[in-house]
Amino acid sequence: MDTKIRQIAILGSTGSIGTQTLDIIAEYPDRFKATVLTARHNWELLAEQARKFKPLKVVIADERHYPQLKEALAGEDIEVLGGPKAIEEGVTIPEGDVVVTAMVGYSGLLPTVAAIKAGKTIALANKETLVVAGEIITRLVSQSPSEIIPVDSEHSAIFQCLVGEKRSQANKILLTASGGPFRKLSAEQLKNVTVKDALNHPNGDMGAKVTIDSASMMNKGFEMIEARWLFGCPPDKIEVVVHPQSIVHSMVEFIDGLVKAQLGVPDMHLPIRYALGYPERLPASKGFLSLAQYATLTFEAPDYNKFPLLGYAFDAIRRGGNMPCILNAANEVGVDAFLKGMIGFTDMPELVRHTMDATPFIGEPDLDALVATNSEALAIARQWLDKHKA
Ligand code: MG
Repeated sequence: MDTKIRQIAILGSTGSIGTQTLDIIAEYPDRFKATVLTARHNWELLAEQARKFKPLKVVIADERHYPQLKEALAGEDIEVLGGPKAIEEGVTIPEGDVVVTAMVGYSGLLPTVAAIKAGKTIALANKETLVVAGEIITRLVSQSPSEIIPVDSEHSAIFQCLVGEKRSQANKILLTASGGPFRKLSAEQLKNVTVKDALNHPNGDMGAKVTIDSASMMNKGFEMIEARWLFGCPPDKIEVVVHPQSIVHSMVEFIDGLVKAQLGVPDMHLPIRYALGYPERLPASKGFLSLAQYATLTFEAPDYNKFPLLGYAFDAIRRGGNMPCILNAANEVGVDAFLKGMIGFTDMPELVRHTMDATPFIGEPDLDALVATNSEALAIARQWLDKHKA
């Protein structure tokens, strides 16, 4: 058994996945140590975490909060840094073994690239990284000692179903989806849902961006693209299955027709524990599944008409090139505008469709071309917004 303490860098330690990762680190002090913690702007919580976990470094991406963080950690033996470049430095420090990419959105891309180039194990929670640049990331990983262990519950489930199997004998991925809080609403009712309705998610405790993405099923579209790259599976071999109880975390069908499923309570601590401990399984003190409590587990097909963003994700990955990057950028603008009350829920897919159609397509973009595509798609989406916002 590997008894060396794993040194963990958490990108986005103050968010939902970040704080739950720290719970796991605190649970196994003889296995894990938090070495680097980073946050976008929640410097107060970052300082509190730093005082508790004593990392070597902390980084605040939004430099405006650097003086406050520095002041709050005066007297601690912790290096305090500011700015996005410092995050890339943080993930490549020699002491680090595992980088948990728990930040939200496009911001995860460049630090993840830096961590892969430095040969770190990536515990991947930032799905946008693979949505935007799956092909490049996959190639970089194949050329480096780095390895990606998924943190997302569905991808952790698929990964676990594939342990001990030949990848070539997997026929199909069955990606489960809760269906979000609006699963039962009519197309007409969807037009009038509010931010408050959307943030009131039953399997909740996620950040606002992920919660809106879950409600629109964009999140599942991103997860499909993530699965395409993580498991080398073409999009027509990935089927989305709505399973509102979120007990089956995903499944793999094999060439003999047999299906393996991975089940558990819907609690992100479980896949985080698996990703940090892999290939070991670490004993848990809670979070055990009592199937008798769940009288019924149901499965149904998703409604692509009511949730067009899910279909657009399939369009984007089939087209390839910079199209998934465009999809992601447009969606970031759409979610932000919806959260600010500038557009309605069903305007988000319209904005995304427009941006996908209007942004120049590039078949084989390199990283620089994707960075440029991201800016261009953001600008086109914002122009649409200026014309259509309330
Ligand atoms: Mg998920």
